[in-house]
Amino acid sequence: MSIDAIQRASKKIRPIVKETPILTSKQLSEKCNNDIFVKAEHLQTTGSFKIRGAMNKVSDVAAKGETAIIAASSGNHGQAVAFAAKTFGLQATIVVPEDAAIPKINAIQAYGANIIKHGYTSEERINYAKTLEGTFIPPYDDPLIMEGQGTAGLEILDQVKDIDIVLVPVGGGGLLSGVLLAIKQTNPAIKVIACEPAIADDTYQSYKQEKRVHIGQTETIADGLRTSIPGEMTFPIVQQYVDDVVLVTEEEIKAAMMFMYERMKQVVEPSGAVTIAACLGKKLQVTGKRIVPIVSGGNVDLFSLHHYLP
Ligand SMILES: *Cc1c(COP(=O)(O)O)cnc(C)c1O
Repeated sequence: MSIDAIQRASKKIRPIVKETPILTSKQLSEKCNNDIFVKAEHLQTTGSFKIRGAMNKVSDVAAKGETAIIAASSGNHGQAVAFAAKTFGLQATIVVPEDAAIPKINAIQAYGANIIKHGYTSEERINYAKTLEGTFIPPYDDPLIMEGQGTAGLEILDQVKDIDIVLVPVGGGGLLSGVLLAIKQTNPAIKVIACEPAIADDTYQSYKQEKRVHIGQTETIADGLRTSIPGEMTFPIVQQYVDDVVLVTEEEIKAAMMFMYERMKQVVEPSGAVTIAACLGKKLQVTGKRIVPIVSGGNVDLFSLHHYLP
């Protein structure tokens, strides 16, 4: 995996994948005591960065002549794979939990994918999905997925000059590892810091203990970050390059979402708000720096919005 592969991915996934804008807010910068440049992946096709990796991977699978693909996901990865399958004329089957939210199922079906409900945990879903006919598309542990997610890092380097710090949410680490490769292989002086919910701190613990640590099941509102262990392929890259991992509380995530809605008029989901939470919560202990938080997604069920209010 290298910056060249990420550059190739970047060409391959256009024009379906957008170069998302950088948003600024005087109030946000003032409240954070830093200059904040928000990378707005909540405005991406399918509402999250996941389409980057999905397009890169699925285009490769399609080129090999496969016709059916499978994914296990209750959320953004499922939508992204369904969308990519439709783009390349493949049939996608997405395995979702028995209790998956109706709006998410509707979104996946709207892209023409089949839905199968199975089990409640991600382990149950993934094991079942792998028994189905078709090529399994992993959510993060795959070089093409990681390189696809890394294209967000390339865009940031183009869009913001003199960056001091980039903030990246971390679940399984696909986005983080891809962005680390793109940024550190271009300009190692830029710091890249991972942001994680304090009650889903598997990457934080793994980083501190220098080995992959498994944590118990977590109920963080950041449902895209509920992984219980960092990826096998992603973690070595995280370990090699990341400058730090910082934790945010559930209340800080909620406050960040509220700020984005009220002050910036941006619909972001809890997983996408952790980087803003780290800025507003002064987790970096720096001032006057040029900071790029990646807001990774905006798929939020409006009927559940009251759960996200501070
Ligand atoms: C999947 C997801 C993440 C975490 O990405 P990983 O590659 O698993 O670390 C963060 N934010 C949103 C909105 C996501 O959908």
